[in-house]
Amino acid sequence: MIKHYFDEILLANGWRRNQFLDISDSGEILAIGDGTAKEAEVVHHGFAVPGLANVHSHAFQRAMAGLAEAAGPSADSFWSWRQVMYGFLSTITPEQLGYIAAQLYLEMLKAGFTSVGEFHYLHHDRDGAAYADPMEMSDRILSAAAQTGIGLTLLPVLYRYGGFGGEAPQDHQRRFIMEGDKFLDLVERLQERCNADASCVVGVAPHSLRAVDPMLLKELLAGIPADMPCHIHIAEQQKEVADCVEWSGLRPVDWLFENVPVDERWCLVHATHITESERRAIASSGAVAGLCPITEANLGDGIFPADEFLKEGGRIALGSDSNIYVSLAEEVRILEYGQRLTKESRNVLGDEINSTGMRIFSSALEGGHQALGRPGKPGLQVGGYANFVILDEDHPALLGKSARKSLDSWLFAGDNSVVKDVAVNGKLVIRDRRHAEEEAITHRFRRVMKELAAGY
Ligand SMILES: [Zn+2]
Repeated sequence: MIKHYFDEILLANGWRRNQFLDISDSGEILAIGDGTAKEAEVVHHGFAVPGLANVHSHAFQRAMAGLAEAAGPSADSFWSWRQVMYGFLSTITPEQLGYIAAQLYLEMLKAGFTSVGEFHYLHHDRDGAAYADPMEMSDRILSAAAQTGIGLTLLPVLYRYGGFGGEAPQDHQRRFIMEGDKFLDLVERLQERCNADASCVVGVAPHSLRAVDPMLLKELLAGIPADMPCHIHIAEQQKEVADCVEWSGLRPVDWLFENVPVDERWCLVHATHITESERRAIASSGAVAGLCPITEANLGDGIFPADEFLKEGGRIALGSDSNIYVSLAEEVRILEYGQRLTKESRNVLGDEINSTGMRIFSSALEGGHQALGRPGKPGLQVGGYANFVILDEDHPALLGKSARKSLDSWLFAGDNSVVKDVAVNGKLVIRDRRHAEEEAITHRFRRVMKELAAGY
């Protein structure tokens, strides 16, 4: 057990000064109370806030950030971006995937995320053949998370079809495609691997309604534990909604609620294009809406009705999805600014009790913890895990700010450089903005980027 002292800390019951946390070797918070720096083994100055879960990431896409920002010959859309992405991923090797993921997870930690939900669908070799070891690619993700120290919820993706109604997969999708029984074997093996490691959780991700069919989805749910996290891309694009209506007569969220029991284990990623009744159905189900504001803006997806959804008691979480840019602060402000721009109003997601930053941050803290099935209670409280971020009180964005104002100042007026130290399960993985293995991780990433650049 180690005693940590904090000048200012955002606990589950609000901001407190001069606090100690007793943290077990596995990172569990055993006790919290008033204290002094003299009694503690580790002393933290600055403003301590809980680390957030990043619930939606495709690690390999970090390496194509910036490559799809030129307009194509036809109307530039999500679907032309997807073509660039398919071309890109057709070349990535297991080793390259591991090095890209390590760089990405390092960047996530430095942005204030302490766990990640990796929506992992790159299962096979470049020609679409299964690797001799079906864990080949998943292992690279597990190793990258272990090397950086970020908490991982690995969400292997079930991707079987190329479009609604059991359409045959396209050639570019060959690295994803998996039969249901092989997929369940993979999930079981991953669970065995993760059992020994408290920072690793396994969930599943049926990719989207267009990539699975009703029978396969039901078989999947019957083949996994009832509380296993289950993530799905849904209603991200208008075309996807129209295709779903054409196939089934129902919009995607309506279809999901008609056909499977949607509850707290579910994370509906994007859920951008929803009707009022679909929105209410998600809110009352206890499922989490996994919002990815930077990527949704970058891809021109649309704007999620966050104001109404939160007022209805809906649960949200944040994800960096395409990893075009990794910034917790920017995810929060783009979420809020999307609402401001459409409603021509300010502080849309704040309420009478909480500032705007605090309301989004605390909602995403709880929703993220739930969506990733992270162990213990959410946030900094006894029975939770010591996942925290120290904001630099001497950063220009925070100068002269009280604890209460520090969070908004980071989220709306700061960037990743406000984050000074980061702890995952009680262990400091970022100290004074550096990771112990940063040089080696970035060196390998640099090599991969040069190799990939030769191909485009
Ligand atoms: Zn995604």
